[in-house]
Amino acid sequence: MAEQIGFIGLGIMGRGMVRNLLRAGFAVRVWNRTAAKMTEFVPAGATTATSPADLARQCDIIIICVSDTPDVQAVILGEHGVLAGAPAGALVIDMSTISPQVTRQLAAALAQKGVHMLDAPISGGSEGAARGTLSIMVGGQADQVARAMPLFQAMGKAITHVGDHGTGQTVKLVNQILVVVNMLAVSEALLFAQAGGLDLSKALEAVSQGAAGSWMLSNRGPQVIARDWRPGFTVDLQQKDLRLVLQAADQMGIPLLGTSTVFQLYRTLQARDLGSDGNHALAKALEQLAGLEIGRDA
Ligand code: NAP
Repeated sequence: MAEQIGFIGLGIMGRGMVRNLLRAGFAVRVWNRTAAKMTEFVPAGATTATSPADLARQCDIIIICVSDTPDVQAVILGEHGVLAGAPAGALVIDMSTISPQVTRQLAAALAQKGVHMLDAPISGGSEGAARGTLSIMVGGQADQVARAMPLFQAMGKAITHVGDHGTGQTVKLVNQILVVVNMLAVSEALLFAQAGGLDLSKALEAVSQGAAGSWMLSNRGPQVIARDWRPGFTVDLQQKDLRLVLQAADQMGIPLLGTSTVFQLYRTLQARDLGSDGNHALAKALEQLAGLEIGRDA
């Protein structure tokens, strides 16, 4: 019999991922802390649960996509958490971005009850979640990765098993260094183009297919030019990830100059109450330093 899937966390990412699982024909039961967000999935075929424990009792595979490390801990270890309901043999897949160290602790706590775990953080933004084209970086045992593969294929395109528990999260932090330092380059380049009096859309078109091309440039560059700061990924969540990167780098004793600079620039946005803007609002931090606005007539 096909496995019953549970999904916890119907945020920007979770919403698209659940829709793709339903489209692929999986039986999905959902739970979200703010219960009203579950309603829209019922006509699409989802059933609902009253708590993470209730969901876990009724599911073989439980996917989690919530905000931060303490949130995943609460959802799994809390009084009405997944651990309280999951039967032996169940599989918990955490697709949130959280601490690699805590991930290993959670995998050990679940294993004591005979419950398997994979860390499978994602990249590709809200667009990737909606289109089913996420990159998924998976840590854990190979047999459980094989068990989860049909689900991953419904939600993503590039699925890479990178090692044991926690390694998926560490690779995700590698991804985040690349994303933010790239966004710094995109912001700096657009500021320079603005100061140079260029047609910004033409400049973007001219450079995006060459060696300077990137996902951030093609997807977030036009949003910066249009001054559309709606989030695919919020500044606040981006800061959470950079904190995880900088903590890990500190433990390893390596300097991360670019990432540290971007962390401080995002901090200036949070101080201006812009934490719910998209992470491409990094451009606004540079604009303030330069006394110049991108996409506005001089
Ligand atoms: P989001 O839109 O802010 O949604 C967060 C979800 O987590 C909501 O469903 C929220 O429930 C739930 N949640 C938060 N704290 C909780 C708690 N203590 N207990 C139970 N539920 C809790 O965030 P998102 O953008 O979907 O991101 C989710 C995860 O994916 C994060 O780890 C993020 O870093 C990662 N991610 C995001 C992106 C992106 O582009 N957005 C890309 C890659 C990875 P409520 O509805 O009740 O608030």
